[in-house]
Parts: sequence; structure tokens; C-alpha cells
Amino acid sequence: MKAAVMRRFGGPEVMEYGDIDVPKLGIGEVLIKLEAAGVNRFDTTTRKGEIPYAKVQLPHIPGVEGAGTIVEVGPGVKAFRAGDRVMPMLTISSGVCEHPVCYCGLGFDNICADFDKLGLTMWGTYAEYVKVTQHNVIRIPDGLSSIDAAGSQVAMATAWELAMNRCKLRQGQTVLVNAAGGAVGSAAVQIARLAGCRVIASAGSDMKLDRARQLGADETINYEKQDLLAEVKRLTDGRGVEAVVETVGGTVLQQSIEALCHNGVLATAGSIGRAKVEVDIFRILRKQIWITGTHFGPKETNKTVLRLLAEGKLRPVISKVFPLKDAPAAHTMLESRDFFGNMVLEIA
Ligand SMILES: [Zn+2]
Repeated sequence: MKAAVMRRFGGPEVMEYGDIDVPKLGIGEVLIKLEAAGVNRFDTTTRKGEIPYAKVQLPHIPGVEGAGTIVEVGPGVKAFRAGDRVMPMLTISSGVCEHPVCYCGLGFDNICADFDKLGLTMWGTYAEYVKVTQHNVIRIPDGLSSIDAAGSQVAMATAWELAMNRCKLRQGQTVLVNAAGGAVGSAAVQIARLAGCRVIASAGSDMKLDRARQLGADETINYEKQDLLAEVKRLTDGRGVEAVVETVGGTVLQQSIEALCHNGVLATAGSIGRAKVEVDIFRILRKQIWITGTHFGPKETNKTVLRLLAEGKLRPVISKVFPLKDAPAAHTMLESRDFFGNMVLEIA
């Protein structure tokens, strides 16, 4: 099969487009012929060999997101058959762990105690074929293209998890969405709007804020030019916001905690450069605020997101589609940070 294969770690050029054997199926596994793969910052970190918690075996195929059609099933597979259009989960769960915190059976497959990750501990989606266990695929609804589905997991499902399952947004609330030009942020703007919230979007560029307004943001703050906290206070008559969807970290995170009203909740899915942030505990306890987070959405969240995309209630935000052989160019663009939303590889 054709794939973007890494035989060493380094810059975008280490992903060499060429032939490699199609993975052989084991018990309970399905083989997916991919039509599209999402491109994520995570893939660039894997490519550089800078994942702190896992050792990547070479040769390796990156890619945590994808969409396609099952072409073969291994022994014991009953849930799916050849011809089913599916998306593999990037968080690979065993489905049987009984860790009291994780417990796949309760639907927290995204934090499985037996955690593996597509495109990290196993070959990923920058390829014509990928294999995963039947437990770790979900169906793509009719009418939703593989291009639109492929980029939904890291962006939309994480945003849904933050906004709806962590912040528990309700109609009439005011929510601050930071990095509204990013993949998660641009999705969170749409989701908060769909939930009936007033949305204050923040970003570091006016171009990104214009796009956020087009996606439904009511107010915008450019935190490179304006004081984030002062602007939130001004826009909420001094009260603060009920919720923050956060992915920036640093002073933006610190100011966002201050921008919460009493009993407010801040949900985070990351910080740029994994930077540590100093937090004043007394601000948290005096205001009775919640700080929570997630890394990705579980299967049920992804099913919800795919359905809403198919129904047209959420719109995929795709900056550019590259052919698979141009994966290095996609990474170069991703690392430039000069884009809005997602990038997708089309696999012919
Ligand atoms: Zn588990």
C-alpha cells in the first residue's frame, strides 16, 4: 500500500511517500481502506519523536484521524462487515478494563486504563489502509463525506466534550472560547452557539476573529492587542462568564480563570508547548469555580458529532485538503500556524 512512512524522526521530509506492506489482520480486527486522514499538531510531535510518554517504533506511519470503508474483517468480528463506512478512534481502548476511574464500560473509552493511541503506538492513518480492533471504530452516517468526517475527531469531538460534557453549557449562558481560530476553538464556537449560548471568541489575530464571527461568535477579543480579562468584564457588565473553553495556557489561562463568574467552569484541552501555569488556589475556592479538562472525546461523543455534521447542524472547518503524497507540505503549513481550522489529506 501507499503510505507516508517515517524511517527516522525529524522535519516534514522524513515522511516518505512510498510502498509498505498492508497490515495483517488478527482476531477482532478490521481493515479500513482510508479515503481521508486528518492532519494534527500531534502528528508533527510524533514525527519529531518528541512524545514524552511513548516510544515510537520505526518504521512508523503517523496519523490519528481518518475515515474510510471496511474491506476485510478478521476472525471473531461480528459488529462490522466489508462495505461499512467507518472512522477509527484515535484513543484505542481495550473495552474490558475495569479501572475504577476509566472503566470503558461506562463510556470513558477515551481514558481507558489499557490506553493505546492510533498513529503512535500503532500505525496511523497517513496510508491507504489501517487496521484497528472492531471495538475502536464507529460508523459514519450516510451523507457525510470522508473528508468532512476525517477531521472531526480531534477538533469537533474534543470541543463537544469540553463544551457540553465538561462545561455542561446551557441556553442563555455566556461562554468565552479561547484560540477561536484553532481547530478545537472554531468547533467550540459553533457548539456553544448551537447550545444557545452567547459566545465571546478570543484569538491572536483579527483575521481569525472575523472567521469566528462567521461561525457564530457574538463578541470578539484580540488578546494580542486587548486585555482579555478587562474585555470580558466589560462585555459581561463586570460579572464574568459562566464557562471558558480553553486551549492556550499561560497568561490566557490565568486571565480566563479570573474571567469566570462565581460557580463558573473552565475546561481545557491543552496548553501551547505544554507549559506549566501558576494558579492561585484561593481564587478557585473563594469563587467556587471548577477547572476540568479532557484530551479527546469518547466514542459516544464522536457519534453525536458525526450525526450533527451529517445533519448540517455543525459545519466542518477545513482550511485545505492535500493529497496524501503531500503530507510534508501539510505539516509545513500546520507548523506555520497560518491557517484556520483543520487540514485533511485525501487518499485516492
Ligand atoms: Zn478501558
